[in-house]
Amino acid sequence: MMYDVNSVREDFPILARQIYGKPLVYLDNGATTQKPRCVVEAMVDEYYNVNANVHRGVHFLSQQATDLHEASRETVRRFINARSVNEIVFTRGTTESINLLAFSFGELMVKEGDEIVVSAMEHHSNIVPWQMMCARKGAVLKVIPMTDEGELQLDEYVKLLNAKTRLVCCTHVSNVLGTVNPVKELIRVAHAHGVPVLIDGAQSTPHFAVDMQDLDCDFFAFSGHKLYGPTGIGVLYGKEEWLDRLPPYQGGGEMIKNVSFDLTTYNELPYKFEAGTPDYIASHALAKAIDYLTGLGMDNVFRHEQDLTRYAMERMQDEVEGMRIFGPAEHHDAVISFLVRDIHHLDMGTLLDRLGIAVRTGHHCAEPLMHRLGIEGTVRASFGLYNTRQEVDALVEGIKRVAQMF
Ligand code: PMP
Repeated sequence: MMYDVNSVREDFPILARQIYGKPLVYLDNGATTQKPRCVVEAMVDEYYNVNANVHRGVHFLSQQATDLHEASRETVRRFINARSVNEIVFTRGTTESINLLAFSFGELMVKEGDEIVVSAMEHHSNIVPWQMMCARKGAVLKVIPMTDEGELQLDEYVKLLNAKTRLVCCTHVSNVLGTVNPVKELIRVAHAHGVPVLIDGAQSTPHFAVDMQDLDCDFFAFSGHKLYGPTGIGVLYGKEEWLDRLPPYQGGGEMIKNVSFDLTTYNELPYKFEAGTPDYIASHALAKAIDYLTGLGMDNVFRHEQDLTRYAMERMQDEVEGMRIFGPAEHHDAVISFLVRDIHHLDMGTLLDRLGIAVRTGHHCAEPLMHRLGIEGTVRASFGLYNTRQEVDALVEGIKRVAQMF
């Protein structure tokens, strides 16, 4: 199938906006993506025509809302090729998914002196929940180091695994460097040591197909809003045998089977981990976003974004004097972090904004990675399925213009 980016763009009303009188060039997709009409319309339609609280309702609307919510769980299952819908827990997003796991896994599995392995390029949301859990349990955080090029050092990783290691937590794709980590290999090695693995899929799921059964990870977290879906919804995937054993994270309605003041029993999977009214509007809209993506074809999306990334990296490197791009040359996803000479990232970002070009600047919630690179921050351009080569041209010309001002 031919990928027609111009017709794709028509599905996203916001892309027609002008910023300071210039066409919007939205290159902040790593932070959040824009929403296609079908996603927003699904939310409006459900609020207007279906809205009722899900589960336990005998009335028509409640059952219809429940059906939509549970059909969405099946859509997510298919999207990541999980074995069962029991393995799909709806959360508020990647951050909540990881906090859920850090609490529940910590309660069951971690004791004083145990070790949790994370990588040098994690987002704060895959560091801080583990630090908090380690502090509670007297456990220790170990870090997989990385090369100057931004690739994990697998030889050092293997040395970190020992009888005290309880869990390995690693991002699939770095939100700063764009590095696509060899997670399948990381998982294989961890399993050989009897250690389960959590993969942070916040930056992989929007860009290429993921397959839980092929990866064989034990846990996987991602966010709806980075996937062209709404804010406030995300997923924690967990192998059923793990989720069965882990204790609940939050208590309340939905997650119980029976409650008495003497004894409360918990609901079956996945409801055991879904206390309170779920965001059933958002789950339905997330399923619409997934349908939209799979309709375009994840392979087409991947090829299109890889083309943009290669084209941008080449032009930036060749044409901008003093350009420093972070991250590896190979296995590089649709995120480009850069600095030009000694121009401050905030100045670059602010001036690009004046040209209608939206990029992100700063530490990108990865301060330990910034320390490792010996910098305070970068400018980050991140691509989505609706970006074009013309927008890359605008970015490169914009960077050149800003560079001339300094
Ligand atoms: N992990 C990575 C790699 C991310 O890029 C992000 C978002 N920037 C998160 C986790 C957190 O996602 P959320 O804010 O949607 O919970």
